[in-house]
Amino acid sequence: MAPIRFENSYAALPERFYARVHPEQAPRPELIRLNEPLAARFGLDIDWLKSADGVAMLSGVRLPESSEPIAMAYAGHQFGSLVPQLGDGRAHLIGELLDRDGLRFDVHLKGSGRTPFSRRGDGKAALGPVLREYIVSEAFAALGIPGTRSLAAVLTGEPVYRETVLPGAVLTRLAESHVRVGTFQYFAVRDDLEGVTQLADYVIARHYPELKGTDRPYLALFEAVTMRQASLIARWMGVGFIHGVMNTDNMQVAGETIDFGPCAFMDRFRPDKVLSSIDAMGRYAWNRQSRMAKWNLARLVECLLPLIDADRDAAIAMAQGVLSRFDEAFLKHYGECFSTKLGLPEGEGNEAFIRETLSTMAANEIDFTLFFRHLTGLAAGGEEAPWLALFSAREAATGWLQQWRALHEPGVDSIRRMQAANPIYIPRNHRVEQAITQAERGDFAPFHALVDLLARPFEEQPGCAHFERPPEPHEEVHETFCGT
Ligand code: AMP
Ligand code: MG
Repeated sequence: MAPIRFENSYAALPERFYARVHPEQAPRPELIRLNEPLAARFGLDIDWLKSADGVAMLSGVRLPESSEPIAMAYAGHQFGSLVPQLGDGRAHLIGELLDRDGLRFDVHLKGSGRTPFSRRGDGKAALGPVLREYIVSEAFAALGIPGTRSLAAVLTGEPVYRETVLPGAVLTRLAESHVRVGTFQYFAVRDDLEGVTQLADYVIARHYPELKGTDRPYLALFEAVTMRQASLIARWMGVGFIHGVMNTDNMQVAGETIDFGPCAFMDRFRPDKVLSSIDAMGRYAWNRQSRMAKWNLARLVECLLPLIDADRDAAIAMAQGVLSRFDEAFLKHYGECFSTKLGLPEGEGNEAFIRETLSTMAANEIDFTLFFRHLTGLAAGGEEAPWLALFSAREAATGWLQQWRALHEPGVDSIRRMQAANPIYIPRNHRVEQAITQAERGDFAPFHALVDLLARPFEEQPGCAHFERPPEPHEEVHETFCGT
C-alpha cells in the first residue's frame, strides 16, 4: 500500500464542481527532480516518492487508493473576454495533504492528460513550461512571496507536439487552493446561486475560517481576498516580476501566485514592460498589475453580490466600499516595500522619492535587481563603484545618490532589512531559457544548479557571480510563452 493518504474535500462538493477523470498513462515516467524539503514538510516518504510507485503517482500513471482524481471546473475572463467554461484541461487534482501545521494543500498534476475541459488541447505539458514553473515557483518561495509550490517534475517519455516536437513532462504542484476568481464565475454565469454559495462557504471554511459567523461573511470574504491581492501584487512589483496572464482564471482566492506561465522577472527596468507573447496590448504590464488585480476583484464581487445583500443596490454600495480600499492597501504595501528596498525610514512621505527613483532607473535603463543589490552593498559600507557602473550617465547617478544619502536611514537594522528585501539572485529569463534548452537536450545540470542557487537568493554564493549578470544582448529574452 502507498504510504500516502489523501483527503478529498473538494471532491466531496457537488458533482457539477468538477469532472471525475483519471490522468492519462505516461509511457515511461522518469523523475527529474523531487523537492525533498517540501516533501518532508508533509511527512512524505522520500524513498517511496523516488521509487517506481512514487514516480507512477507523480506522473499520474497509478494513484494511491485514497486518491479521488478530478478536473476542476472554472470559467474566466481571458484578456477581458468572458469564457464561460475553461476548467482543468491538462491537470488533475489528485487529493489533499495536510502539512505539519495542519494546513491543507492540494496536490495537483499538470500535464497529466486530457479531461472533459481540454477543448482542443492535448492535455499535455512540454518540458520547458514545467521546468519554468518549477524554477520560478520555488524561487518565489525562497523570496518569501506567496505562491504555489513545486513538489516534483517528471518526464513522461512521450513527445508533445507544439511548434516543434518536445519532451512531455508533468509537474506536481502544491497549493493552498485551486479556487480562482473564475471558479466563482463558472457558477455565476450559469445563474447557479446555490453553487456560488457552496463555493463561498467552502472557501471560507478552508481559507478564512475566522470569517465564519461574522455579520456579513461573504462581504468579509471579498474584503479578505482583496487585501491579500493588494499585498501580493506589491510584492511582485518589488522584485520586478511580471505575471503575464492575470486572467480571472489565474487569480486564486487564497492570495497565492498561481500559474507561472509566461511570467518573467525584468532585467532592465521599464515600468510598462511586457514579456508575454500573447499580451500584445500590454494589458498585464508591470505597472498595470494592480489595476488589473482590482478589475479581477470587481469580477469576483459581481458573483458574490446576491450573497452580500438581497437588496442589489445595497450590495453594490458595500462591494464598492471594499473595492475602493484596494488602492489604499496596495499603495501602502507598495510604499513599504520600496521604502525597505531603499533603506528609507518607515512611514509615509517616501512616495515622491520612490517615484523619482523608478523614473531615474527607467531613464537610464538600469537593471532592476542590480540597482537594489548594489545599493544595498553601498549602504552596508561597500564601494560606490558597482552601483555607479550601472549608469552610463554619471550625473544622473550622482544626483540621485545625493538625494538618497539625505533621505536614507543608516544603521544595522536598515541594512539588514535592505539585505532581506533585495535579492542577489533571481530567475533571470536567459538563465531559465538556458536551463530549459539544455534540459531538452538531456542535460539537467543547469536546471538543478539554478534551482539550488535560487533556494538562497539573498546570500552571496561562491562561484555564482555569473548568475547575477544581466543578459548579453545576444542572450536577451524578448518574449515568454504560455505552457500550452
Ligand atoms: P492557462 O493559460 O495555462 O492558464 O490555461 C487556460 C486554459 O487552457 C485552462 O482551461 C487550461 O486547462 C487550458 N489548457 C492549457 N493548455 C492546455 C492543453 N495543453 N490541453 C488542454 N487544455 C489546456
Ligand atoms: Mg491557468
